[in-house]
Amino acid sequence: MEKASWERLSRILGGLTPMKSDCGLICGKKCCSVREEGQGMYLFPGEEALYPEGGQWYSVGHSEVEVEHFSGKRPFVLQCRGSCPREERPMACRIFPLAPYLTPEGDLEIVLDEDAIFLCPLVRQKDLEALDLDFRQGVRKVCAHLLEDRSVREAVKSYSARIDDQSRDPWRLFLK
Ligand code: SF4
Ligand code: SF4
Repeated sequence: MEKASWERLSRILGGLTPMKSDCGLICGKKCCSVREEGQGMYLFPGEEALYPEGGQWYSVGHSEVEVEHFSGKRPFVLQCRGSCPREERPMACRIFPLAPYLTPEGDLEIVLDEDAIFLCPLVRQKDLEALDLDFRQGVRKVCAHLLEDRSVREAVKSYSARIDDQSRDPWRLFLK
């Protein structure tokens, strides 16, 4: 996707955030600060072009392991140092903690990203509707555009199947 298209998608989310109030105050901005070695934010296919080598606040590399993430099986990973120029943050940061999900019929739904369950209190709360409606609608619009890319659609399909499988894990009952 062209730089201009990424900018257009970013504008859809503009100043929108998961909650009207600053949810970072609940958790101490965990999604920006808790990182293990090698972890970071996954980039969607083509988004890596926005982050050339030599960036002042990030580094970018390929995921070292195969993951079934909605951005791909072996996506680029952006590692930051816990702060960034807000207007330059990757799409995964803009939509966090939501994720695109495809139903078996191929319909797009927006869900709380189960992969962030131990990180984000909003995901643990399991109440999608507690998140700001404008934010949810903006994320839906952006994801609908992203799904026009066949590789993203395939990645979201695999992610959705994995999330469905995981939801049947017996240990998940303890999180209810
Ligand atoms: S981890 Fe969740 S609650 Fe905390 S700042 Fe990030 S989105 Fe908000
Ligand atoms: S790039 Fe910015 S928004 Fe994304 S995790 Fe890093 S500091 Fe947070």
